[in-house]
Amino acid sequence: MVYFIGAGPGAVDLITVKGATLLQKADVIIYAGSLVNPELLQYAKKDCKIFNSAGMTLEEVVDVFVCENTPDKIMVRLHTGDPSIYGAIREQMDLLDEHGIKYSVVPGVSSFCGAAAALNAEYTLPDISQTVILSRMEGRTPVPPDEEIAKLATHKASMVLFLTSSLVEQLSGKLIEGGYRAETPAAIVYKATWPDQKVIKTTVGNLAKSAKENNITKTALILIGDFLSGDYERSKLYDKTFSHEFRKAK
Ligand code: SAH
Repeated sequence: MVYFIGAGPGAVDLITVKGATLLQKADVIIYAGSLVNPELLQYAKKDCKIFNSAGMTLEEVVDVFVCENTPDKIMVRLHTGDPSIYGAIREQMDLLDEHGIKYSVVPGVSSFCGAAAALNAEYTLPDISQTVILSRMEGRTPVPPDEEIAKLATHKASMVLFLTSSLVEQLSGKLIEGGYRAETPAAIVYKATWPDQKVIKTTVGNLAKSAKENNITKTALILIGDFLSGDYERSKLYDKTFSHEFRKAK
């Protein structure tokens, strides 16, 4: 059995209890060394076989699972944040299917949640935005044309861009082309929840300058939207004049 486990965004204690328990029991761990906090490996048993996938191909990763697979073994594939977001888990699952190896996913705290926490921010403010767009800018990995940044920007929703901090030169232009103002608040969150986390508050127009000044080229998220400013309407949920299933209006 292979468990795809979300390691969380960085801080060792942000893995789930279920994830940590499985790490303690694991006979084999393959972890994404480029982003997963290596301190998490302290959970592993002494005789656990540990592999860093950073230098491995998809086939090499799956080969380890195929070679190690026995009915009693617990094998872990440890991904950063939540495995369902840019985790490339689908292709691993498809190959495991071909080999008849069972798997299960344990979710994790995604870095976009860690970044909001670092900013004490709420993505879904009434009257500001009720939508969070999670995306990336096209680089070496293609993005479907309908999801081009300028198109997504037309919604002016709260936006979080993964895998984009090395591509910021053209980003502001695309965001403004779509509809954000140059002054729309933006933030760059580097290594959210890690001890060396950096939070840089800026604007859409100044994204490239801010990234450059702070030498940010990787392990960062770019957050965009008016949810980062001070103005909003209070939510209905806690409004004393609003009734719902659990509370009558006063
Ligand atoms: N599955 C992960 C994302 C993997 S893609 C998740 O749910 O968070 C890798 C990208 O995620 C990085 O290039 C960076 O943009 C972002 N990222 C991952 N961890 C991060 C962190 N702690 N702080 C800021 N960005 C992070």
